[in-house]
Amino acid sequence: MWFRRDLRLHDHPALNAAIESSLNDGDGQVVALFNIDPQVFDDAGTPLQAYQNASLTALNESMNGKLLIRYGDPKDVLLEVVKASNAKSVHISEDFEPYGRARDIAVEKELAKINVPLIRTGSPYAVAPFRVTKDDGTPYRVFTPFYRTWLKHGWRKPAQKFNKTPPWFMPLPSQALPQVNSEIEIPKAGETNALDLFDKFLNSAIHGYDQNRNRPDLNGTSKLSIPLRFGEIHPRTILMELNETKDHDTFRKEVCWREFYAEVLATAPESETKSLDQKWELMGWDQEEDFAERLKKWQEGKTGFPIVDAGMRQLKQTGWMHNRVRMIVASFLVKDLHIHWRHGADWFMKHLLDGDIASNSHGWQWTAGCGTDASPYYRIFNPMMQAEKFDPNAEYVHKFIPELNHLAGIKAHTPWEQPDGYLNNYPTRMVDHSQEREETLRRYQASKGEKVITEKFSQ
Ligand SMILES: Cc1cc2nc3c(=O)[nH]c(=O)nc-3n(C[C@H](O)[C@H](O)[C@H](O)COP(=O)(O)OP(=O)(O)OC[C@H]3O[C@@H](n4cnc5c(N)ncnc54)[C@H](O)[C@@H]3O)c2cc1C
Repeated sequence: MWFRRDLRLHDHPALNAAIESSLNDGDGQVVALFNIDPQVFDDAGTPLQAYQNASLTALNESMNGKLLIRYGDPKDVLLEVVKASNAKSVHISEDFEPYGRARDIAVEKELAKINVPLIRTGSPYAVAPFRVTKDDGTPYRVFTPFYRTWLKHGWRKPAQKFNKTPPWFMPLPSQALPQVNSEIEIPKAGETNALDLFDKFLNSAIHGYDQNRNRPDLNGTSKLSIPLRFGEIHPRTILMELNETKDHDTFRKEVCWREFYAEVLATAPESETKSLDQKWELMGWDQEEDFAERLKKWQEGKTGFPIVDAGMRQLKQTGWMHNRVRMIVASFLVKDLHIHWRHGADWFMKHLLDGDIASNSHGWQWTAGCGTDASPYYRIFNPMMQAEKFDPNAEYVHKFIPELNHLAGIKAHTPWEQPDGYLNNYPTRMVDHSQEREETLRRYQASKGEKVITEKFSQ
C-alpha cells in the first residue's frame, strides 16, 4: 500500500484492496509505504512539511510503528520496495493533480517491467473527477449545474475497515522523517484528531453555519480543509453525517466546491498556473521588476488596509486563512495591485497548511475573474465594505493587528478617518482603492478592445 494524500486507516478503499489482494494471492502481509519525494517535499512550505511529519507520525503510531518511510525518486523507491518485499501488486488512491498523475504513470511503467500492477482504488473525493459531466460528456465549468449533477450522481457509503489489521511487513529499514523548523505552531494531526474535529463541528459550529461561515471574527467553519488535504478524513465520511437542514445543505455545497475544482483541474491541467479563460493572460498585468515592493507589502500584511493585512498576518502566523478573507486579499492583489494571480497562489501554497493545487489555483482564478466564476469581471471587492459587513465589530482585525488595538470597534477598519489612527505606526494605505478599481476596469476592457465602463459596481 503506497500512501500519499490518504493518511488514514478508516474508509480507505485502496488499503482494503491491498489487504484483500494479499489475503487472496499472497501471504496476507502488507507493506505500508510513504515515499518522501524530494520534488514535492522540497517545494512545499515549512508549515505543510511540518504538518505532514505530524500526520505521518500519527499514522505510524496507529500501525504500531510499521509505516515504512523511504526517500527518493518515486520510481526508484517503489522498485526497491517491491523487489525487497516480493510484492505482487502496488495499491494507491488515484491522484488527479497534474504532477501526481504523471508520476503514477511513470511508476506504473517501471513496475510493469517486472510484472507488478499499480492498482488504483478510490480517490480523495466523494465523486472522482471525470464522472460528473454534462449530458454531452463535456466537463462543467460553472459550479451550480455541476453541483446539481453531483448530487444526482451521489456517492458510496464509507468503506468499512477490514476487521483484521494486516500483519504489516517492513522489508527495509524505515528512514527518519526530515527535520523541519516551522515558525508556526502546528495543529494536532492524524486521523483520530480529524474525526474528533468533525465530531466537534457537528455538535457546535454547524448550527448557524449558513449564516456564520462568512464571518472571520467567529469560529464558524469546520477547519477540515487541513485533514482533507492530507486525507486524514475522507469526504464521504463527512457527507454521510449531513442531513437536509439549511446549515447542513450549505456545508455539503462547500464540500462540493472542493470536488468541482478537482474536476476543473483534472480536465484542464494547464489551469494549475494559467488562467482557465486564457484571454486574461493577455491582460496588462504589471511586470515583476515593477511590483516587487508592492508584493512584499501584501505578503507581510502591511498594505494599510486592515482587513487585508489581518488576513495576510493570519496566514503567516497560523497557516490558515478564513475563506471570506482569502477572497478579499486575492481581489486586492489582483485588482488593486494589478499583480498576476499566480504570484498570490504561490505565496498561499508556501504558507497554507491546507494548500491544495486545485482549490488554490481555482480559488484565485474565481476571485480574479479569469476562472470558473460566472459573474462579471468588474466585480471588485471593496476592502472597507467587506470589512464592515463581515467583521462588524473589527474583532478579527484587532486579533491580528495590534497597532490598531487603541481604536475601539469598527474605528479599526478606517484608521485614516481617526485623528489618532496612526499612533502605533500602522502603515498608511499603499494605494487609492477607487483609482485602482478604475485602472483595473480600464485594463480589462483595453485587453478586450471594449469601451471602458466606469459606473460603480462595488461589493
Ligand atoms: C484565493 C483562495 C485560495 C484557496 N486555497 C485553498 C487551498 O489551497 N486549499 C483548500 O482546501 N481550500 C482553499 N480555498 C477554499 C477555502 O478558502 C478553504 O477550503 C476554507 O477556507 C477552509 O476552511 P474550512 O475547512 O473551515 O472550511 P468550511 O467552511 O468548513 O468548508 C468545509 C470544506 O469545504 C471545502 N471548501 C469550502 N469552501 C471551499 C472553496 N471555496 N473552494 C474549495 N473548497 C472549499 C473545503 O474542503 C473545506 O474544508 C481557497 C479559497 C480562495 C478564495
